[in-house]
Amino acid sequence: MSDNSTPETSPRIVIIGAGMAGILTVIKLREAGYDNFVVYEKADRIGGTWRENTYPGIACDVPAHLYTYSFEPNPDWSSTFASGPEIQAYFERVAEKYDVMRHIRFNEAVPHVEFKDGRWHIRTASGREDVADFLVAATGVLHHPHVADIPGLDSFTGACFHSAQWDHSVPLEGKRVGVIGTGSTAIQITSALVDKVSRFDLFQRTAQWISPIDNHVYTEEEKERFRTDPAFLQAVRDEINAEFGRFSNAVIDADSQEMKDIEAACLANLEDNVKDPVLREKLRPNYRAGCKRLIFSSDFYQAIQHPSAHVVTTPIERVEADGVRLADGELRDLDVLVVATGFRVDSFIRPTTVLGRDGVNLDDVWAEGPLAYMSISVPGFPNFFMLNGPNGPVGNFSLIQIAEHQVAYILQLMDKVRRGECREVSATPNATADFEQRRMAAAKKSIWSTGCKSWYLDKNGVPASWPWSRARFFEEMAKPVLDDYDLAS
Ligand code: NAP
Repeated sequence: MSDNSTPETSPRIVIIGAGMAGILTVIKLREAGYDNFVVYEKADRIGGTWRENTYPGIACDVPAHLYTYSFEPNPDWSSTFASGPEIQAYFERVAEKYDVMRHIRFNEAVPHVEFKDGRWHIRTASGREDVADFLVAATGVLHHPHVADIPGLDSFTGACFHSAQWDHSVPLEGKRVGVIGTGSTAIQITSALVDKVSRFDLFQRTAQWISPIDNHVYTEEEKERFRTDPAFLQAVRDEINAEFGRFSNAVIDADSQEMKDIEAACLANLEDNVKDPVLREKLRPNYRAGCKRLIFSSDFYQAIQHPSAHVVTTPIERVEADGVRLADGELRDLDVLVVATGFRVDSFIRPTTVLGRDGVNLDDVWAEGPLAYMSISVPGFPNFFMLNGPNGPVGNFSLIQIAEHQVAYILQLMDKVRRGECREVSATPNATADFEQRRMAAAKKSIWSTGCKSWYLDKNGVPASWPWSRARFFEEMAKPVLDDYDLAS
C-alpha cells in the first residue's frame, strides 16, 4: 500500500498529528503552493490535546482571542478564557473551512520513520507505507499522560483514571472523589466538581500560586460587534496580545518588577479570599510565583472553601482498595480517584522510532535529553522539522502563535529544496551546540529556575524553554540563519 502517487516535482510532505499544529501546517503548505502532503493521525478525530482532555472544567488559560489562528479570528468566543469543547469545536470548524480533513488519514499511528536514500520512509501501525521529502512532527507537548508512581494504585477498587483519560461513564454525583495533584488541570477539576460530589479531596503535594482573573462572558452585543467590525476585533486581540506579551517577557527575568507585582497580586488573592487561617496556610506557596506554571483561576479559592472540599496535605503513603492511605495512618475512603499528575513532556515525536542519516536513532541522540536547534531541527535528521519541539517557548506563550511562526520559518527552508538549491536541510552540530549553550545560560535567569519542581525543568533542573523575550523569538523566527544549516546537495 503506498500513498506516494503524485509526481516527484512537488515535494511530498508527511505531517504527523492532526492537532492545532498539524491543521495549521496543512493550511500554510497549501497557501505556499504545496499540494502533495498527508497527515497521519493516530486517533479518529482531529484536535490533539483538546480531543484527549475532556475532564470537567477544562479550559485554556491563554485568552481565547489569543489562542486563535491569526488568519481565522473567532468573533464567537463565549468568554475571555474558552472551554475545552469550545476550542475543539473551533479547530473542527477551521479544519472543515480550509478543507484540511481530506488530507488526514485517521487511525494511523506512526511507529517508525527512517531517512534512507535521501527521503523519509514512513510506516504506519496499519502497514501503510509512504515516502516523503519532508517530515513534520506536529505531535504536541502535553501529550503522554504521566501516571505518578504511587504504590497500590492498581489495588483501588473504585474508578481510577488519569485526568487526560477521563472516564465519563463513571457517575460523580454524590460520590467521594479524590484528585491527586494541584496543577492547572486539578485546579480546574476542583472548581467544576466541588458542588456536585459528596466529598472532594484534593491531595496536594505543593501549594500553588493562583492568579486572579476576570473571565468576562462576552455579551451578544460584543460578539455582534466582533462579527461586524473586524478592526474592533483586531484591536481587542492586539490589546490582549500586548498584555500577554508583557507577562511572557516578565517570566524570563526572575528579578523583574512585573514578577514581584504578579506575586503580590496572587498573595492578595489568597489573603482576601481564603478566610480560614489554617486553610490559608495550607494553600500558601513557599516558592516564587511563576516558578511553576502560574495558575489563572477566578474561582478556585471559592471552590476549595465549599463544605465538600478538603485540601489533604499529609503525604500519600499508598493507595488501597478503599481509598488513599496517608503517612499518618488516616484512610481517605473514596469512590473515584483522579490522577492529575501531568504529562511526560520529554517525549515529543516519540514513541515513534526516528532513524536519521546512517540509521542514527533519535533516542540515542536524545539520550541526555531532547534538544533541537531553535526547537525545530536536529543535526543528522535532514528535512525533519518539529513544531513546538524540544526547549521551545512553552512558558506562557500561546502555542498557536509559536506554531505559526515556526511553520513560516520551516516553509523558508522547504523552499530551498523546492527551488532546487539543495536536497537536504538540517541544523549543523555546531549551531545546535551553541544554541543549547546560550539557551541554558539564559534559562538560569528565568523565574522557572528559582527553586521549585515543575514540568518546565529538564532532568538536570534547567528550564526546557525559550529563555528570551517573545519579541526575540518572533525576530529569530522571521528568517532562518542559513549558516546554521547544512544545505546538502
Ligand atoms: P502538572 O502541572 O505537571 O501538575 C502535576 C501535579 O501532580 C502537581 O501538582 C504535582 O505535584 C502532582 N504530582 C505529581 N506526582 C505526584 C506524586 N507522586 N504524588 C503526589 N502528587 C504528584 O500537570 P497538569 O495539571 O496536568 O498541567 C500540565 C500543564 O498542562 C499545565 O501546566 C498547562 O501548561 C497545561 N494545562 C493547561 C491548562 C490550561 O488552562 N491551558 C489546563 C490544564 C493543563 P508537585 O507540584 O509537588 O510536583
